[in-house]
Amino acid sequence: MCPSYRATKNEKDTTRARANALREILNESTAKYKFNNVALKEVFDLCISCKGCSNECPSNVDVSILKSEFLYQFYKDNKRPLRDFLFVKNSFFLKLARLFPEIANAIIQSKLFKKSMGIAVKRNLPKPKKQTFRAWLEQQNIKETTKKVYLFIDEFTNNYDVELGKDAFMLLTKLGYQVLYTTHYQSGRAEISKGYLKKAKKLANRNIAVFSKLISKEVPLIGIEPSAILSFRDEYLRLADKAVEAKKLSENTFTIEEFIANEIDKGCITERQFRESEKIIKIHTHCHQKALSTSEASFKMLNIPKNHKVTILNTGCCGMAGAFGYEKEHYAISMQIGENSVFKKIKSQEINVEIAVSGTSCRHQITDGTGKKTKHPVSILLDALK
Ligand code: SF4
Repeated sequence: MCPSYRATKNEKDTTRARANALREILNESTAKYKFNNVALKEVFDLCISCKGCSNECPSNVDVSILKSEFLYQFYKDNKRPLRDFLFVKNSFFLKLARLFPEIANAIIQSKLFKKSMGIAVKRNLPKPKKQTFRAWLEQQNIKETTKKVYLFIDEFTNNYDVELGKDAFMLLTKLGYQVLYTTHYQSGRAEISKGYLKKAKKLANRNIAVFSKLISKEVPLIGIEPSAILSFRDEYLRLADKAVEAKKLSENTFTIEEFIANEIDKGCITERQFRESEKIIKIHTHCHQKALSTSEASFKMLNIPKNHKVTILNTGCCGMAGAFGYEKEHYAISMQIGENSVFKKIKSQEINVEIAVSGTSCRHQITDGTGKKTKHPVSILLDALK
C-alpha cells in the first residue's frame, strides 16, 4: 500500500488517485499548458517516489516516474523553491563548504539557514566531511588482481558516508577484488526526484558514455547506495539516447549486495573467509531495492559467516525518501510514515541486534526516529572478516 496513503488515509494520496488525476488532465483539460496545474501538483506532493506501486501494479505503473515528468513540466512555467537548487547542486556547495568546514557546518546546522531554505528545523543536516571518499581512494595503493570491479562513487557516499566507502573498498580488496574507479558524473538521483529531467538526461548519457567502454560481464559496475546505482537499471533506460548501450550497461551493473551474493553463488566467496563469532542481524530493505533488486542479496551476503543469524524485517518505507523528509512541510508526514512502517519494529529489537540498512536516507531517518544506529551490510560483513 502507498506509504503516504497509509499515513494520511486521504483518497487523494492513493496511487490510483494520482494516476487518475494525471490521466484526466491529459485527456480532458483544454488549457494551453496542461501541466501548469496547482491541483495536480498537490496530488503528487506526498508521493515519496518509493516505487512501491510499480511492484504492486499489474501494469507496472511507477508513479514516481509520472511525478518526475510532471514536476519537469510544471516548473517550466513556475518558479522553483530555492532549496531544490540546494539539493541538486549539493556536491558543488559541499566543495565550497570543505574550504571552511567548521564555519560551513555551523551555518548549515543553524535555525536561520534551515528556515530560510525551507528545511525542517528538527532535522540535523548531514555534516560535510573534510575529505571525500574519492580523495581518500586516490591515496590508496591498489594492487592488481585478476578479479576486477568498477566502483560507482555516488555523491552520497563520496560526500557524507566516507567511512562506508572505505569499508566497501576494504571489504572488496580483502576478498581479493581489484577496485577500479574512474572520473564520472553524479547519479542524477536528486535531479530525477525533483524533476530536473534535462539535467538528469545529461548525467545519464554522460555516465553511460563513461562506463559502457569499461564495463563488461567480467568487470561489472557496482554501487553502494541503492538509489544511486539502481538508476542505471531504471531511469537511465528511459533517459538514455543510446538505448542499446544503456541496456548492456544495466545488465552488468549491481548493488554491492547483489555482486557479493553472486560471487557467493559462484563459490568465489566462502564461509572460510569469515570469523565464527555469533551475531544477530536484522535487515531493513531500501524501497528501491525492493522494487528493482531484492532483499535476498543482503540476506545471502550477511548470512555467509557461519554464526550469523539473519532475518529480513517486514518493514515498509522509512519515509525519508531523499530530500522529502528534510522539507519543512513534509517533516511530520515523513516521521509518520516511518512510525507506521519502521520505527516500532526497530525500537523493539534487543540491544545486541545489529540493524543492517543499505540506504543512506534510511539510516538517517531510523536514527532520527528511534535513536538507534544502523550499519550498511558492507560494514557488518567487513567486521566479520578473518
Ligand atoms: S511511488 Fe510510492 S509514494 Fe509514490 S504513489 Fe507509488 S507507492 Fe505511493
